[in-house]
Amino acid sequence: MNGLINSLAIIGVGLIGSSLALSLKQSGYVKRVTGYGRSEASLQKGLELGVLDDYSLSLTDAVSAADVVIVAVPLGAMAGVFKQMQPALKATAIVSDVGSVKASVVQDARAGLADAFVRFVPGHPIAGSEHSGVEAGFASLYQGRKTILTPLEETSGDALQVIDAMWRATGALVENMDVDHHDRVLAATSHLPHMLAFSLVSHLSKLSEQDEIFDYAAGGFRDFTRIASSDPVMWRDICLANGSALLELIDGFKAELDQISGSIRGQNPDALLEFFRHSKHTRDQLRNL
Ligand code: NAP
Repeated sequence: MNGLINSLAIIGVGLIGSSLALSLKQSGYVKRVTGYGRSEASLQKGLELGVLDDYSLSLTDAVSAADVVIVAVPLGAMAGVFKQMQPALKATAIVSDVGSVKASVVQDARAGLADAFVRFVPGHPIAGSEHSGVEAGFASLYQGRKTILTPLEETSGDALQVIDAMWRATGALVENMDVDHHDRVLAATSHLPHMLAFSLVSHLSKLSEQDEIFDYAAGGFRDFTRIASSDPVMWRDICLANGSALLELIDGFKAELDQISGSIRGQNPDALLEFFRHSKHTRDQLRNL
C-alpha cells in the first residue's frame, strides 16, 4: 500500500470511528469506507452524513474486502469482534484499534486474530469528547492532537507504517509508546479525572439540597464535571480493563484529600497554602493545555 487506502472498514461507527472516516474521506486519503455496527439506523445515518460509502450488519462481510480495518467499539466488545472477523480478513489486511486501554486490547487481539496478529497495530487517539454516536463525529477531531501507537516486537513494520501515515493524514501527531507505559500514563491523565468527575456529580446528587446546589453551579463546576456526561458503557469497560493502574491512583488521590481534611481539621493555614501553591504552580506550568 503506497499512501492511499483503497478500502477501509470501520467497526463501530461512533464518535471516534466516524470522525476518523470523515477526516480520511475529506482529505481523499481513503477511497471507500464500509461500516459495521449493531444498529442499522446508526449505519444508515452514517451513509446520510457521508461518513460511510456502504455498510453491513454482518461483521465478516464488512471486513472481507478491507485493506485496513479499524476497530472502534467499546473495550468490552473488542475480544468478540477480533475473533469473529479473523476468518474473513484478507491475507494482507492490516487491523488497528482506537481503544482507551492498550494491554487488554493487545490480549484480546492476540487471542482473536491468530496469524493476522502480526499485522495488528494497537492505537489510541488522544482526542474525543463526552458525546457519543455517529452524529457526534467531526472531521477535525484529530487535527493537532496526539495519537499514540503501541506496536509490539512482532508487529510488522509495514503495518505500523500504514497506520502511522493514516493518522498523520488526519492531522494527528503520532507517537509510539510501550503498552504498559501508555496504560499508566492514561490512567493518570484521563481515567482518574473521569472518576473524580463521576464521583463528584454522584456525591452532590445524593445531598438533600441537590436541586438548589445544581442551580448555583457556575463555570468551574461546569468545566470540572463536563466529562461526567461521558458514555457509561465506555467508562465501565475502561475501569475494568485498566483496574490496577487506576486503583493505585485512586488510593493516592484519597491520600491527597485526607491531607486537605487534616489541614482543615488542624486549622493549619500554612499547610493549606503550601498545598494550593504547589498545585497552582504545577498547573500554571502546563503550557500545552
Ligand atoms: P461511541 O460513540 O459509543 O461508538 C461506539 C460504536 O461501537 C457505536 O457506534 C456502536 O454502534 C458500536 N458498538 C457498541 N457496542 C458494540 C458491540 N458490542 N459490538 C459491535 N459494535 C458495538 O464510542 P466512542 O467514543 O467512539 O468510543 C469507541 C472506542 O474509542 C472505545 O474503545 C473508546 O475506549 C475509544 N476512545 C474513546 C474516546 C472518547 O473520548 N470518546 C477517545 C479515545 C478513544 P451500535 O450501537 O450500532 O453497535
